[in-house]
Amino acid sequence: MTEYDVIIMGAGPAGSTIARLTASMGFRVGVLDRKKILGVPLQCAGLISHRITEANVLPDNLILNSVRGAVLHSPSGIKLRVSRKRPEAHVIDRTAYDQYLADLACEAGAELRTGTAVRDFSEATGEVEVNGRTLRASVLVDARGQVAIRDKYPARQFLVRFRDQEMDTDFVDLRVDSRLSPGFLWRIPLDEKTARVGAFGHHKNLKDLIKGFISDLSTDFRIMESHHGFIPEPDPDMELVGGRCIRIGDAAGQVKPTTGGGIVLASRAAHVAAEVIQMALEDDMGLLENYQEVCRKLYMAEMKNQMRVQRTFRILSDEDLDHIFLKMKEYGAEEIISRYGDMDIQTPLIMEFLKSGLLFRIIPSIISRKVASIWK
Ligand SMILES: Cc1cc2nc3c(=O)[nH]c(=O)nc-3n(C[C@H](O)[C@H](O)[C@H](O)COP(=O)(O)OP(=O)(O)OC[C@H]3O[C@@H](n4cnc5c(N)ncnc54)[C@H](O)[C@@H]3O)c2cc1C
Repeated sequence: MTEYDVIIMGAGPAGSTIARLTASMGFRVGVLDRKKILGVPLQCAGLISHRITEANVLPDNLILNSVRGAVLHSPSGIKLRVSRKRPEAHVIDRTAYDQYLADLACEAGAELRTGTAVRDFSEATGEVEVNGRTLRASVLVDARGQVAIRDKYPARQFLVRFRDQEMDTDFVDLRVDSRLSPGFLWRIPLDEKTARVGAFGHHKNLKDLIKGFISDLSTDFRIMESHHGFIPEPDPDMELVGGRCIRIGDAAGQVKPTTGGGIVLASRAAHVAAEVIQMALEDDMGLLENYQEVCRKLYMAEMKNQMRVQRTFRILSDEDLDHIFLKMKEYGAEEIISRYGDMDIQTPLIMEFLKSGLLFRIIPSIISRKVASIWK
């Protein structure tokens, strides 16, 4: 039986980052991924905040574009434009990023086996069944992504060439739609002509919704690629440690409830996980439990606030959303969002909306009691 200190199931950003960190600590690390080619097919819009560089490595050559703002579209086409002076987020080559992070893990000493699906594993014994063989480790890491999660949103994305316009590559377009809420539609430019256009949410025909969005943006376009995937529904109460196994990334529901983005959060959690694993392996396996507590401190308050935003969106009709957009324009919310808005940390903006009373000035009065019960 092959023995490791750590076996990591899944070589996405979460798995490869924790593999790099633990291998650098000198542990014997095995990484298993069922994919033959990591990062393929593409299942990501690849938009990550500038904070990624605090949490992980990101070489410049994998940045396809950088954006500093967003045009927010209401269902009937009312637009709000929010921006910062400096780039807020990067649009990355996600496939290459997965491969890059895995290469770094291997350089640090991790042993990567691609085309190796985990069939079964035991949190109690640390045994992992692959291709008719059994591997064993002192610590297992479940980084299998959304496949490990029961409740998730379907997501779909097209790569689109816009022939009739030059996009402003500094801005992404985001459209809200009550049929998707709390999901939404996005257009993320890679260059002046090409963009990733997609949506997530519980809707049975995401394809048509996205095509409708594209047609509203352009009369002459070509869809070049189509991909689909899933985004976990966040579950702040999920158990992150079971026996000798810890969960990380999408497999742990570590995604931002409002945007579905998970790369920065997974990268942060990987640092916590690596430290906890080191303590557990060098000292006492019981210390693995600390992972859950530290992770919860890291993101729980923010996640809960974002989940309240989600719950608010769920009760809004298209008419409510249009009303809110109009009111936001009237009350200068573009400026407030530009000042306090943040892709990752949304609590300051939420607090500003609450503190100033703006939230209850922009929502239709008929739903104010329902909304108040969410924010009490
Ligand atoms: C359409 C779409 C758009 C998105 N856009 C963004 C975005 O713009 N920004 C952002 O931050 N996030 C985005 N996300 C979310 C982001 O992709 C995830 O949060 C991120 O990939 C999580 O990383 P991970 O390592 O936890 O999981 P994954 O990247 O899913 O990696 C899991 C790995 O585990 C492997 N695996 C699964 N099962 C097994 C098994 N049985 N045995 C072995 N290996 C297995 C898989 O092959 C995969 O390589 C998007 C998601 C979707 C679907």
